[in-house]
Amino acid sequence: MKKLEDTIYTAIELSNNVANNLTFPQSIPNSPNPLLLSKWYAKEIEYCTAEIDKIEQSCGLNCSCSKGCSSCCRMLIGVTPVEALAFTNTLSNMEKTLLDRIKSTVAEQCIMLTNYGFPNNPLTVLNYLNQEKEMQKKYFDLHLECPFLSFNKECLIYSVRPIPCWTYRYYGNKKDCDMSTFPKDNILYSEFEKREIERLDIAKPRKNTTLQILQFALKSLLC
Ligand code: SF4
Ligand code: SF4
Repeated sequence: MKKLEDTIYTAIELSNNVANNLTFPQSIPNSPNPLLLSKWYAKEIEYCTAEIDKIEQSCGLNCSCSKGCSSCCRMLIGVTPVEALAFTNTLSNMEKTLLDRIKSTVAEQCIMLTNYGFPNNPLTVLNYLNQEKEMQKKYFDLHLECPFLSFNKECLIYSVRPIPCWTYRYYGNKKDCDMSTFPKDNILYSEFEKREIERLDIAKPRKNTTLQILQFALKSLLC
């Protein structure tokens, strides 16, 4: 029987090829309207994740991820301005008590992140990626749950979740997700991430895409 790491290697090769040849079914919007961006981005996620599902099926890979499983919702997330606007639309339809809870978590976590020296300004994608490995390790040790995680451990913005949340999948023992940010036997579908960031770069509201730590991006939107 093929070893899991060999299957993962095959899936990575295949996914790079698939991602680089994707023909996206919808055009890129030229409007900063949160509702429009939210619907557009949700469809982008649906399309890309369906392609990733097909890659897993063709390689015989069984993803360990499931609804309510959320140890990975303690990773550092960088978001683009378009993703942030897409969240705005979802947040504007939320109950006030839930929104207040998110605001208060965001405010608390921003203070903590500032105290630990995390950059609160938007960074170019390259600058962000250069610092990401070190930031992820430091962030994981803080044990901060994502402000969008509900009491029953489900994502409150699932249809428009950030790119790192839908391009990361794990194939090993779930318990390992408690122990480190990216345990062995995962795939970061990085070519899908790259393709989507390129598209977000073209979409309004802003050219020259930047990435900002989720909590800081939310603070400027909500608080
Ligand atoms: S990455 Fe790990 S914690 Fe996250 S959903 Fe998958 S199995 Fe669960
Ligand atoms: S946005 Fe959703 S999926 Fe992503 S880390 Fe937060 S709760 Fe988890």
